[in-house]
Order: sequence, then C-alpha cells, then structure tokens
Amino acid sequence: MSNCPCGQPTVAEACCAAVISGDEQAETCERLMRARYTAYVQRNEPFLISSWHPSTRPKTVPFDALTRWVGLKVINSQGGASHTSGEVEFIATFKHQGKAYKMHERSAFVREQGQWFYFDGTIL
Ligand SMILES: [Zn+2]
Repeated sequence: MSNCPCGQPTVAEACCAAVISGDEQAETCERLMRARYTAYVQRNEPFLISSWHPSTRPKTVPFDALTRWVGLKVINSQGGASHTSGEVEFIATFKHQGKAYKMHERSAFVREQGQWFYFDGTIL
C-alpha cells in the first residue's frame, strides 16, 4: 500500500483516482485540486482539460518531459459543498533535470451545477 500521488495516506484508487475516473465527484475544491495534481503526475490531459473551467481552459496542456512532480503540500483551502467559489494554496515540488524546485500557487475554483472547476492560478 502506498500513498496517493497527492500525498494523502490512502491508496490512489480511494483518493484521486476515484475523482479522475468520474466515480466520485469532488465535493471540495481541495479534492479537485489534489486530483488535478495527480493528473499532472500521470500526464492525464483529458482530465485536466475537463476539470478546467470552459472560460479559461486551454486547448492542450503542455507537459514538460523533463519535469517530474514529486510532492504536494496543501497550505490552505476553502470551498466546499455549500460554496460556489473557492481557493487552494499549495506548494508543489518538482524535479527538473535532477534539481528540486518548489512552486507556490493559489488556485481559484468555481462550482457550477454542483461541479468544481479549476479557474486560474496565481504564483505566490
Ligand atoms: Zn489523492
């Protein structure tokens, strides 16, 4: 048994994979954010696009072949089943050509018809 790529101490099937497959709907924007991080780890472009709000969604997601995502730490999050907007502040660690870097971002999410979408992100 190993942790989900998003860092939660549960197997991926019980965490992000259920959201990515559509078996479970993310009830909070943090859950969607974690699933999107895992989708970056797994280079799952269709999920990243479909969970991106239609008004800000790109046509393709550029994956850098030399970048490997190695960790996620959620600092702060707000936005649950009773909200229509939310945000998640996190630090994602990645390795690029053997060197480790951190990306500190605040992501904004909106919820429409019960479904959370990633809206945009601000690098902090
Ligand atoms: Zn997860």
